[in-house]
Amino acid sequence: MSSICYDLHSHSTASDGVLSPAALVRLAAENGVDVLALTDHDSTDGHAEAAATADEVGIHFVPGIEISVSWRKRLIHVVGLGIDGNFTELQQGLVHLRIKRQQRAEAIGARFEKIGMPDVYAGACALAGGVVGRLHFAMYLVEQGEVRDIQQAFKKYLLKGKRCYVPCEWASLEDALGWIHGAGGQAVVAHPARYKMSRTLFREFLVDFKALGGAALEVACSSHSAEEACLMANYADELGLLASVGSDFHSPHNSWAKLGQLHPLPEGCLPVWQDWK
Ligand code: AMP
Ligand code: MN
Ligand code: MN
Ligand code: MN
Repeated sequence: MSSICYDLHSHSTASDGVLSPAALVRLAAENGVDVLALTDHDSTDGHAEAAATADEVGIHFVPGIEISVSWRKRLIHVVGLGIDGNFTELQQGLVHLRIKRQQRAEAIGARFEKIGMPDVYAGACALAGGVVGRLHFAMYLVEQGEVRDIQQAFKKYLLKGKRCYVPCEWASLEDALGWIHGAGGQAVVAHPARYKMSRTLFREFLVDFKALGGAALEVACSSHSAEEACLMANYADELGLLASVGSDFHSPHNSWAKLGQLHPLPEGCLPVWQDWK
């Protein structure tokens, strides 16, 4: 077993994280992370700052992305690792996704207005460094004392089927993997145990993902139990996929997703970094 500490899924203020890219990288170094990927939602804007800070503090930086994908009308997050942020087709795709995010944010704001909460859109915008996401809405609702915590904000207003949920058609799986591969990266299914799919449907998804050249499943992540990690390790083995490790860190105030603090991969997993230099 290698003793190198990897965290290959994290967020900064370039999407819905609360730390700047520089502060994120400094915290990673303090926490003993050796290799950190910044994987903001639909944006690579944090890469330059994160890379410069990683050089300063002496850790390895992996430029990444977390792309919102619609697969059979379901939202799936696909992480890209080791991408060249200058690849034109990737950036064109991301611009398009951020336009959709902005339109959706305005529509969510209109929903809140309709239920007598007209200030929520402006409040969420004020909390966002880049494009507004649902987490910014949730953060504003917590700040205002409307809800107890982020979870409750999602449960009450923002999850599918709730009052202020607005559906959106994101990138196709084919496009997302095409952009990641064109940019020289590896595609990873983010937090795979979080999708509420039957085993049959999930396997169909994995078959599609693999057929499009997908590389790995995030086997170890903060939202997985030890059993879920083993289940995902088995799927990876069955489908011939590698295994990744990522905290999905958003904020130091979140007690369950700590930067760089993850269970090791289950025995027998082939790590996504096996061929990295
Ligand atoms: P969006 O990409 O704007 O649709 O928002 C998705 C983001 O919201 C995720 O990346 C998480 O940061 C956060 N999120 C989604 N569901 C929940 C939840 N149930 N509890 C807390 N945060 C959530
Ligand atoms: Mn997020
Ligand atoms: Mn995600
Ligand atoms: Mn994430």
